[in-house]
Amino acid sequence: APRTPREVLAYLREHEVKAVDLRFMDFPGQWKHFTIPAAALTEEIFEEGYGFDASSLRGWQAINESDMLLVPQPDTLFLDPFARERTLAMICNIQDPLTREDYSRDPRNVARKAVHYMRQQGVADTACFGPSLEFFIFDEVRYEQTAHAAFYWVDSAEGIWNSGRQEGPNLGGKIPHRQGYFPCPPADSLHDLRSEMMLAMEECGLRVESHHHEKASGGQCAINIHYDELVAMADQVLKYKYVVKNVARRHNKVATFMPKPLFEDYGSGMHVHVSLWKNGQNLFYGSDYSNLSEMAMYALGGLLRHAPALCAITNPTTNSYKRLVPGYEAPVHLAYSQRNRSAAVRIPVYSARPESKRLEYRVPDGTANPYLAFAAMLMAMLDGIRNKIHPGPPLDKDIYDLPPEELQDVPRTPQTLDEALSALERDHDFLLQGGVFTEDVIETWIDYKRTYEVAPLRMRPHPYEFALYFDL
Ligand code: GLU
Ligand code: MG
Repeated sequence: APRTPREVLAYLREHEVKAVDLRFMDFPGQWKHFTIPAAALTEEIFEEGYGFDASSLRGWQAINESDMLLVPQPDTLFLDPFARERTLAMICNIQDPLTREDYSRDPRNVARKAVHYMRQQGVADTACFGPSLEFFIFDEVRYEQTAHAAFYWVDSAEGIWNSGRQEGPNLGGKIPHRQGYFPCPPADSLHDLRSEMMLAMEECGLRVESHHHEKASGGQCAINIHYDELVAMADQVLKYKYVVKNVARRHNKVATFMPKPLFEDYGSGMHVHVSLWKNGQNLFYGSDYSNLSEMAMYALGGLLRHAPALCAITNPTTNSYKRLVPGYEAPVHLAYSQRNRSAAVRIPVYSARPESKRLEYRVPDGTANPYLAFAAMLMAMLDGIRNKIHPGPPLDKDIYDLPPEELQDVPRTPQTLDEALSALERDHDFLLQGGVFTEDVIETWIDYKRTYEVAPLRMRPHPYEFALYFDL
């Protein structure tokens, strides 16, 4: 793979590339791009960057200081499998044209700083991240229905039917409610679509491990990818979502990473597997609980201690909190366990090999900005390691079934985005260490979320309110 500007230009000619696509991550977490003709890409652009107006993007510069630079990164290059004309895409860092400093509100810059801080502290040289994303594929009809999902529950409360579950005992080969895990076709009607996604992901440089139908009755999918270093993995999450959405579109379907599109069915998470490495050794392998090292236990302690504040970044939408409810394998209690999927942190035991030892943080979802989410998780773990935050004893029981008195002291995930934002307001010193997140980034984030998401949702009449109150 080309690594230097000169190699990129050679690659361009060799593959008869017609266009070059410059990609970057905005503040809330959406991938942006713009395109130049292949002939316009020069070695200077890798040095001098490409100017754009950052004031038109959510959460960024004020209008009077709008000019910013995109600096393409050769090692992120891939051929876009969806562009009609052969197009080479590269992910960019963002810089201030006057100072030539990396922009503090560029999420990718935050992620790079987090890794730098970890190395500077001498803790580890590599942070490995392995996110497993879930998503729904809807066809247009089903999508229309979900927009009105609130109404369906009204019927279910009256015991008639709900969210498409009124069908008789013979489902004609369809997947029964909440039994979507692993059926063969024809019940799994999305097999070919996922295989197409898998191949397109590999074309974009991702290493796919497997794909399968997920637990929700219809349309929930998972494609698992191999872990990688933090920044590279955040880049890959963007390619992943790009591929999923574009293959779905090719077949007149829509894909969504919205955490809870269907009431009373499974939601979609982004469980994140993490381990820290030094000189090729997995530092999380040891002789503590479930063969974790002492360092891993402290990292776990840091994750659990800061989980409510982390939620504002790893679960950044109002819809995120509709997933974090009991009964759907999404975590509710901030506890850890070797095998329990209802705990916020699980220690997978699929393999006894030292290189496989890791923590699985089950709280995040696919609406998170992966650069900010992974950086914040790393900062929580480093805080746990630095301050020797022990997580206490594990909860090796099915947490959903424990009697209330046993759960009284187990802290919970926040119930709303607003609650998570308040937790972040109180608890963000761990994020500021080493200048990784700045006060400005935290304040801008909280303010953006409250102004554009929390408040407008709170003030907007909901379809379910019409069902409940219209005739009062
Ligand atoms: N979909 C579940 C969640 O919301 C997780 C299911 C699984 O463990 O694969 O997190
Ligand atoms: Mg899953």
